[in-house]
Amino acid sequence: MTELATPPAAESAGVTRIGHWIGGRSAPSASGRSGAVFNPATGRQTGAVDFATVEEVDAAVQAAKAAFPAWRATSLARRAEIFFRIRELVAARREEVARILTAEHGKVLSDALGEVTRGLEVIEHCCGLPSLLKSEYSEQASTGIDVYSIRQPLGVVAGITPFNFPAMVPMWMWAPALACGNTFVLKPSEKDPSASIWTAELLKEAGVPDGVFNVVMGDKSAVDAVLAHPEIAAVSFVGSTPIARYVYETATATGKRCQALGGAKNHMIVLPDADIDMAADAAVSAAYGSAGERCMAISQVVAVGDVAEPLIEAIKERIPKVKVGDGMDPSSEMGPLVTKEHRDRVASYVENAPGEGATVLVDGREGVLPEGFFLNPSLIDYVKPGMRAYDDEIFGPVLGVTRVATYDEAVRLVDDNPYGNGTAIFTRDGGVARRFQFDVQAGMVGINVPIPVPVAYYSFGGWKASLFGDRHIYGPEGIEFYTRGKVVTSRWPDPATSKVDLGFPQTR
Ligand code: NAD
Repeated sequence: MTELATPPAAESAGVTRIGHWIGGRSAPSASGRSGAVFNPATGRQTGAVDFATVEEVDAAVQAAKAAFPAWRATSLARRAEIFFRIRELVAARREEVARILTAEHGKVLSDALGEVTRGLEVIEHCCGLPSLLKSEYSEQASTGIDVYSIRQPLGVVAGITPFNFPAMVPMWMWAPALACGNTFVLKPSEKDPSASIWTAELLKEAGVPDGVFNVVMGDKSAVDAVLAHPEIAAVSFVGSTPIARYVYETATATGKRCQALGGAKNHMIVLPDADIDMAADAAVSAAYGSAGERCMAISQVVAVGDVAEPLIEAIKERIPKVKVGDGMDPSSEMGPLVTKEHRDRVASYVENAPGEGATVLVDGREGVLPEGFFLNPSLIDYVKPGMRAYDDEIFGPVLGVTRVATYDEAVRLVDDNPYGNGTAIFTRDGGVARRFQFDVQAGMVGINVPIPVPVAYYSFGGWKASLFGDRHIYGPEGIEFYTRGKVVTSRWPDPATSKVDLGFPQTR
């Protein structure tokens, strides 16, 4: 029998109440409204998450506002020191938070650890904050005059995050925001909120002053309170496209800076010269890892020319070997979906596919585990634009195959798609790969790499309906997003350069 990793205390104690974190301590809500949190592997409710009132969101903002002057005045050296401590604590305790992720999200423990590790890379990048915040200086721009630029924090900034990366996506936001000297209010997904409280406690232990990092739990009303709050300067959002568009439009209409990352439909093009085994391994890993609940998952394989038959055979061979089970079981490779409603919605695409003219080659509804929100990997052939299975972001373990005759047709599919998050090409031809990278309309491109999530010192972001706003998240663009520029023109008394001059200042 396989041994299960220890579940977090929350589960053994029955249904745990999960409240806010404001001003350095936990703060239960008085709203009387809450949402159910499940263990997706068992289907049982393990938590009840508070939903914030407008006043509670305001309390979090006021705590962040009060903490801002001292935090922004904290020296870069001291802030960096705190970041190194955060780095050490997250690295040492990553397994602890990974268990929380598995218990509420369902992803397998190894994948949860992978999530934390990728988030940790962003924290590590932020440990270099003194270098990241260096600016420019022009000596003697005019006679006796020096000009320099500085980047300053915005003030109170907020993050609104999705269910699928409950630790990593918040890290993409709070780490650069805090590194730049801002204070932060996080509104995590109500489906798996506990990782945020774990983070709040860890930041406090690392020496982040009270009020610098706050968490408000909630649903649309909490989001709306954040968007309407006049003292929040910027909002980072990651989630589905319709909500991303709404958040972007609402936040910017109230004068906030906003970056809103949306959904995806990531195509993986396989050319006839590709290494079939490598492409099949990549497709199976990227389509079914985390049960397809990744914004960078491959949901559509585009098979060019005669590669379709051998590629589909190779994918079909691999699917039965994917071990689906409780994420706490170390032998599981794919866990359940996050909720019953989401599982049923994903399954409906498989059910409807034949009616739309597609062919279900592997039906993931067969042989599912009886408890929890499981769905096995599905493979659908002859999927085309105009079918729901093609047009919608399914966000589950359903891989579609589209067959095309030429490279140009394949690229056109990617370019015509309303989403533009990630895409990948599998080929042995460097010239074609280079042309693909030059031409394709997507923000993140993989060449024989199926999930091209950029390393922490680049920035993450899609194009088209996958991102609203003009700054990608984390990396250099994250630093730009969470700071604003100021340019100083200075002159120190030097009698040789002083005279009355009523003309417009000129450099000379
Ligand atoms: P979601 O859009 O349902 O929720 C995201 C956040 O918005 C949550 O905090 C939620 O409480 C809030 N929200 C939900 N409905 C709202 C409403 N009507 N008004 C205001 N706020 C609302 O997304 P999800 O289901 O949690 O996450 C999955 C989605 O996130 C997928 O579409 C996925 O592609 C996307 N995603 C994108 C990226 C990316 O980097 N582009 C990364 C991860 C996830």
